Amino acid sequence: MRIVPTVAAMQKLARRWKRAGGKIGFVPTMGYLHDGHLSLVREARKRVGKSGVVVVSIYVNPTQFAPTEDLSKYPRDLQRDLKMCRGEGVDVVFTPGDAEIYPGKAEGKYSTYVVEENLGRVMEGAARPVHFRGVTTVVAKLFNIVLPDVSVFGQKDFQQAAIIQRMTRDLNFPVQIIVAPTRREADGLAMSSRNKYLDAEQRAQAVILFHALQAAKTAVAKKFVSAAKLKQDLREFLTAAPLARLDYVEFFDPETLQPVAQVKRGTHMALAVFFGKTRLIDNSQL
Ligand code: AMP
Repeated sequence: MRIVPTVAAMQKLARRWKRAGGKIGFVPTMGYLHDGHLSLVREARKRVGKSGVVVVSIYVNPTQFAPTEDLSKYPRDLQRDLKMCRGEGVDVVFTPGDAEIYPGKAEGKYSTYVVEENLGRVMEGAARPVHFRGVTTVVAKLFNIVLPDVSVFGQKDFQQAAIIQRMTRDLNFPVQIIVAPTRREADGLAMSSRNKYLDAEQRAQAVILFHALQAAKTAVAKKFVSAAKLKQDLREFLTAAPLARLDYVEFFDPETLQPVAQVKRGTHMALAVFFGKTRLIDNSQL
C-alpha cells in the first residue's frame, strides 16, 4: 500500500494508471475510519475489480467546518487508519495537508469554491451554512487529483451524496457515483467518527435516532400522515432520551430534497440530534 501525501505525486500516479488502462475506485474520507468507511472501500473494490486500484483519501477538510464547529477536535488516528486500509487491500492512501489542498489560503491567495445552489439549501445546508460549499469544493478538487472512474459515498450522509451526484452531473466529471448503505452498530446506531465523542450515557441514548426512524416507518406503513403531526409525535418520542436535543427532523422527496406536507411509504426522513456538543445525523427511506 502506498501512502501519498502530495497532490503532484497523486496526480502523476493516477495518470500512469489511466495510461495503463486501469480503473480507479475512490473513497474520500476524513479519517478516523470505521466499518462504514470500509464498506465503501469494499464496494469500490467490487466496482474496479482486481485489475483496478482503490484509493482512499484521508483529509479533514477545514472549509466544510464553520468556526464554531469541531474542526480542531475532530478525531484523528492516522496509524490506525492506515492499518485498517492495509487490512482491506487499499492500494493508495492519499493524505494531503492543508498546504497541499488550499495553497496560499492563509495569505488570502486561495479563492475558488464550488457551490451547488439548490439541494444544499435545506436540512444540513440550512443548519450548517458553509458546510456543503466546503464539501463540493474539496470533492471536485479530489476528483481532479485522483482521477477516479468510480467514487463511493455513504447513504449515512444522504444529502451530501445527492449534492455530489448533482455536482458531478452539472460539471461533467467523468466519474460514476455510487451510494452505499449505512452501516450500523448492533443496536442500530449509525456508525460515525463522531460517536467517539459520546460518553456512556449519551451513547446508550443515541440509538433514539434509529428508533425514531423505525417509529416513523411504522406510523406511515399503512396510511398517509401529515408531516406536521409526525414531527410533533417524534418530538415527543425523543423525550424518551432526556440527553437528546433535536436540531431538525424533516420529511422530503428523495429526488428534490424538498419537504413534503404528507408523509407516506417511500418518503425520506432525516434528522439531526445533539447530545451535548455532539451532533449526530441519520436518515432513511420510510
Ligand atoms: P466522513 O469520514 O465522515 O467524511 O465520511 C466519509 C464517507 O463515509 C462519506 O461518504 C460518508 O457518507 C461515509 N460514511 C460515514 N459513515 C458511514 C456509515 N455508517 N455507513 C456507510 N457509510 C458511511
